Amino acid sequence: MKTFPCSCGITLYFENFHCMACGATLGFLPDHLILSPIEPLPDGSWRALAEQADGKRYRKCRNYSEQDACNWMVPVDDPDDFCLACRLNQVIPNLEKPGNRELWIRIEQRKRRLIYDLRRHRLPVYPKSTFPDIGLAFAFLEDDPNEFEFHVSHGSSQILTGHANGLITINIAEADDIEREKMRLQMNEQQRTLLGHFRHESGHYYWDRLVADGPLLGVVRRVFGDERLDYAAALANYYQQGPVANWQQQFVSAYASAHPWEDWAECWAHVLQISDTLETAVAIGLAPPEVLAGSFADRIDHWIELALKINLLNRSLDQPDPYPFVLAPAVIEKLRVVDEVISGSGFSP
Ligand SMILES: [Zn+2]
Ligand SMILES: [Zn+2]
Ligand SMILES: [Zn+2]
Repeated sequence: MKTFPCSCGITLYFENFHCMACGATLGFLPDHLILSPIEPLPDGSWRALAEQADGKRYRKCRNYSEQDACNWMVPVDDPDDFCLACRLNQVIPNLEKPGNRELWIRIEQRKRRLIYDLRRHRLPVYPKSTFPDIGLAFAFLEDDPNEFEFHVSHGSSQILTGHANGLITINIAEADDIEREKMRLQMNEQQRTLLGHFRHESGHYYWDRLVADGPLLGVVRRVFGDERLDYAAALANYYQQGPVANWQQQFVSAYASAHPWEDWAECWAHVLQISDTLETAVAIGLAPPEVLAGSFADRIDHWIELALKINLLNRSLDQPDPYPFVLAPAVIEKLRVVDEVISGSGFSP
């Protein structure tokens, strides 16, 4: 993630609503992918003050003006009340219920970062409400405590985080740190993060858009294996038997060994995570800007070095390794293929 300059000269961060120094109101401009100071106009719209925006007028996203849950803007000639990220919401949690608002705000924050990532890579973001067949949508659902007893006693599961036909479902318990850590331990995972869920599930969505039935299917299948393998049986097998032996040699995570689709989604999530973190490293002076324009091999070399440093810094702070993964050569090849699919998608922003 980049940082952004305020008119007053101080550095602004993606999540900010106001400049901490001069107090300016801020808005993220999805068409320019920048956070900009904005000034109110007499007609109720806002003028973006960042130079790139060239004085363009915007409205605040409805989740900004009414909820303070979003800091994104909508171009003034766009008829939608919601910004590019919020218009993807199909279901949000019941905000009347105590605690849900805090969880929802965390979820929206991660979702906006995902949408930023996708647009930065020039991946198409079409709302499902306008494009039912190829669009993307989100449902943020919670387990019904009344139904919970029923499900448990019948051995079936709660709301599952997942993707189907462009709809990404996130169980809002994933935004609760204690609940998520419990699930991480239960599933025996090295890492489980809210943003990681968004990245992983978006990988399934873009498989459908960029790989399935397209010219890239052959090369992806050669590297990830044949996805026609029975998915339900493969997952059932994974949960019964655990990952394949020595999975570290072939897979980025144990779960990636469950099925080629999961392998793809796990690698997709890593590529987004790595490129976002490298962009941050450049923005804050921890890596030279050339890294971002370099070859995949150069970026990965840089990443491996940087990830080790971040892990070591965290050990000094007695925190767990933020990147507890080993990237074997076969895994790096998979990441390279994902990176190529992303950079070759060629959609204009
Ligand atoms: Zn300022
Ligand atoms: Zn919004
Ligand atoms: Zn998955």
